[in-house]
Amino acid sequence: MPTLRLPWPVDPADLPRRLPERQRVSALLAPWFGALGGSPSPRLGGRREAERLLAAIDPRAYGASRNHVDGAVTGLSPFIRHGVLSLAEVREAAFARVATLSGTPEPEPVAGLTNPAATLASRPVHGGGGRPGAANAAAFARPRHGAPRHPGEALIRQLAWRDYWQRLWSVWGEGVHHDREPLKTGHPSEAYADALPEDLARGSTGLACIDAFVADLVGSGWLHNHARLWLASYGVHWRRLRWQVGARWFHAHLLDADGASNSLSWQWVASSFSSKPYIFNRANLERFAGPSLCAACPAAGRGGAEAAGGCPFEASYETLQERLFAGLPAVTDPRTRLGMTTVAGAGGPRSAAAPPDPAALQAPFAVAAPAVGEPAFAHPPAPACAASQPATPAPGRPRDPVLWIHAEALGPANAALRAHPHRPAVFVFDPVAADQEPWGLKRLVFIYECLLELPVTIRAGDPLVELPAFAARCGADGVVTTRAADPRLRAITNGLAARLPVEVLEPESLVPAAPGKPGAVAAPGDQASPDLRRFSRYWPWAEPRIWGPARLQGLNGGMGG
Ligand SMILES: Cc1cc2nc3c(=O)[nH]c(=O)nc-3n(C[C@H](O)[C@H](O)[C@H](O)COP(=O)(O)OP(=O)(O)OC[C@H]3O[C@@H](n4cnc5c(N)ncnc54)[C@H](O)[C@@H]3O)c2cc1C
Repeated sequence: MPTLRLPWPVDPADLPRRLPERQRVSALLAPWFGALGGSPSPRLGGRREAERLLAAIDPRAYGASRNHVDGAVTGLSPFIRHGVLSLAEVREAAFARVATLSGTPEPEPVAGLTNPAATLASRPVHGGGGRPGAANAAAFARPRHGAPRHPGEALIRQLAWRDYWQRLWSVWGEGVHHDREPLKTGHPSEAYADALPEDLARGSTGLACIDAFVADLVGSGWLHNHARLWLASYGVHWRRLRWQVGARWFHAHLLDADGASNSLSWQWVASSFSSKPYIFNRANLERFAGPSLCAACPAAGRGGAEAAGGCPFEASYETLQERLFAGLPAVTDPRTRLGMTTVAGAGGPRSAAAPPDPAALQAPFAVAAPAVGEPAFAHPPAPACAASQPATPAPGRPRDPVLWIHAEALGPANAALRAHPHRPAVFVFDPVAADQEPWGLKRLVFIYECLLELPVTIRAGDPLVELPAFAARCGADGVVTTRAADPRLRAITNGLAARLPVEVLEPESLVPAAPGKPGAVAAPGDQASPDLRRFSRYWPWAEPRIWGPARLQGLNGGMGG
């Protein structure tokens, strides 16, 4: 890989911009992170790899097969999580791919929206243009119940799940790690264990499916969505594990782990942010994972859930519900419960009890709502500064800034890099953050590989020491960065802003903002911010905006009025 030369002062303590071998990251970061066990993931980091995967997406095949573990899923999550690709880039690539496959010309992209081939030298992006909000939900009616109106719909909808979780993270901050609602399992929260069972951690439960999923999680740091659901469900409902413990376990291994997508998905499975617990049975597993796991499983050979040592998943949903939960109403077909994962048109998780503070949910940067219930497993608190508040920059906008590149913005869509493509930029590996939200070697190698394709100095240590020192080294008068969803990164931004001028730029969103001010109301009756109480409430707000007026017109025309 050619090494990018950095045209600003270097320091002997900068981390090297060459990586002779991937395992070397372990030794490089040992002074800050201690001994890092394990091996790098076979999945590579970096923009080149991200573009390779992006070029291969097939939204049609995705819609037809995404729930199958060998389906046409994109594998893009680690790149999206770290901002190597923005959701907007993936959205545009999906629309373009559908147009190419169907031979239909794409409408002109809305001014300012990302071109997947954008380079670091691209001009700055200042939000979307057009009048996406002017499209109302009625004009965007479905052709017939449940049918996709566009071959790219399933993929766009999943991208929206990420956007939805990220918005909730901005509102709730560290509150995403606490029960949002009471569990609907009939069990008190004390019934759930605070420690990960050894056999589960090691992948030696004797259940071929579970052990295979654990091996993938630990070995590669990536799992198919369905495998995540099965594994989380097994942990929480069969092993009675506190969901936070499972979420922390996933976080330590997943290349794509972030507080929002991970913890809120665990809550969705556990039922503290959904209307009922998610469970599965053997028939469901075999349908979406194929027969080979069960064929090789000793437990399956011993019989069903009733037999000693038999397969705990081989039973009807009614039987499993009676075994696992205390006095719940009858379980229906799980597909009606799978808005997050399966059939097109199933809708989001069905709306039930509203979370505690609907007003906060409509104000994107409101202070985190108080958690319902007190989890025994306390997630480490955020640093002292107001993590869920937007940064308050010190007076004055930096004229000759350095750029702080953080772990949500490791790609050319980074708003700070776009606005200042020639200014010195720095990334800081932060051992404190990585300890609180565990990052293992797989993740650190992935990030390192992404950094090697960016014009950025690499440091490790306390960002509140390293960033001012880098600014001083470069003779800069402040810092420009991109707004983060992670409350810890926002806390660092706030801490920095107390020391020197800081400008925080908005990242490009999946849901284009109305023209003019970001978040402006586009048409009478059109809400500037979505109702975040459930995905099913957010989606009717987001969907027409994501499509935009030009595509909507095409769709409605194409539907024959
Ligand atoms: C218990 C559990 C934990 C999870 N933890 C994470 C996590 O830490 N980070 C993470 O990015 N995803 C998480 N997910 C969501 C989902 O499993 C992954 O995003 C997806 O499997 C990644 O594979 P892919 O890139 O091939 O996704 P695709 O199916 O190809 O989807 C494209 C992109 O859409 C987004 N996406 C798709 N499905 C979801 C979803 N259900 N929720 C949020 N975003 C979605 C991702 O950015 C993904 O890369 C979790 C799901 C569960 C059930």
